[in-house]
Amino acid sequence: MKYLDEYRDPAAAVKFRELIRARTTRPWAIMEVCGGQTHTIVKYGIDDLLPPRITLIHGPGCPVCVTPLEMIDQALVIAARPDVIFCSFGDMLRVPGSRGDLLSVKASGGDVRIVYSPLDCLTVAAANPDRTVVFFAVGFETTAPANAMAVWQAKRLEMENFAVLVSHVLVPPAVAAILSSPSNRVQGFLAAGHVCAVMGYEEYESLAERFRVPFVVTGFEPLDLLEGVYRCVCMLEEGRCGVENQYARVVRREGNVESRRAIEEVFETGDRTWRGIGAIPMSGYRLRPAYAAYDAAVRFGVSGLTVRESAECISGQVLRGMKKPQECSAFGTRCTPQTPLGATMVSSEGACAAYYQYRRMAVKT
Ligand code: SF4
Repeated sequence: MKYLDEYRDPAAAVKFRELIRARTTRPWAIMEVCGGQTHTIVKYGIDDLLPPRITLIHGPGCPVCVTPLEMIDQALVIAARPDVIFCSFGDMLRVPGSRGDLLSVKASGGDVRIVYSPLDCLTVAAANPDRTVVFFAVGFETTAPANAMAVWQAKRLEMENFAVLVSHVLVPPAVAAILSSPSNRVQGFLAAGHVCAVMGYEEYESLAERFRVPFVVTGFEPLDLLEGVYRCVCMLEEGRCGVENQYARVVRREGNVESRRAIEEVFETGDRTWRGIGAIPMSGYRLRPAYAAYDAAVRFGVSGLTVRESAECISGQVLRGMKKPQECSAFGTRCTPQTPLGATMVSSEGACAAYYQYRRMAVKT
């Protein structure tokens, strides 16, 4: 298949493996930021192809995984209201809150619907003027433009029965938090190509300069990741910091200017709590005052909810690259995709789910 097979070519993968082996003289720890990249790495065994001195650390780049438990609980409270139609992408429906998930609300009679675009919610809202349509606006910078467009369009149409429950997180502040941690062991990063497709990579240039680390903007296919690792190893071996763009077929330095403009119009940055990691200053989007009427948390009075995480789940340490999923005592036994204890087992991009799908037999033997 064009645009796919050429990035999964086994012979080219072997060449990259040899290049990486030849270039590696010391141990290096490299973090792939995005959960989609983690999925590819585990699925294709890319970490097993690398020399033992290269350690890949799985980063916090799965938006479902880092959505705080209290946000899930806020969603459950709003979705259970008879005057609400609650819309979400499908991946949020099985994420466990402290009292069930959105699917269980739906089973109990809540009107919970899967949509493929936040703009679809405006059509639903127009057809149901007596109820409020709430969209669960979760994600990194990648989903923010469409969510911004939906809010902007609702305001333009003077549509009052639409609102968003916003839980957007931003990658660069999380990377800065990882690099500032006293326990940090990451020496180089594979930056998430799709985030950079929207936002560009100028922010990573400042981070590279500030922390003296290399970043390689990297795609999601096996050869993208092998080339990303190779470029990162070259920069580390040569003592270079800065940003290289492996994903040039998609990413420009300035990103997508129109998308950034849409985000800027509707959202502003603010402090945000990441599940398993904690509060990170200026690491999320919230609605600007001009769009505050569309804030579902305020409209339905749910912003004060507080909850406690499962004591057994170590997904916070998994998300910070301190532990691998199979080091969790519940992995594959009490915690499976059918009975998840933590969000990293629910999301298809979560590290625990990826290890469960592709590595659990290896763990048992
Ligand atoms: S296996 Fe389950 S309980 Fe353990 S860290 Fe992953 S999500 Fe949490």
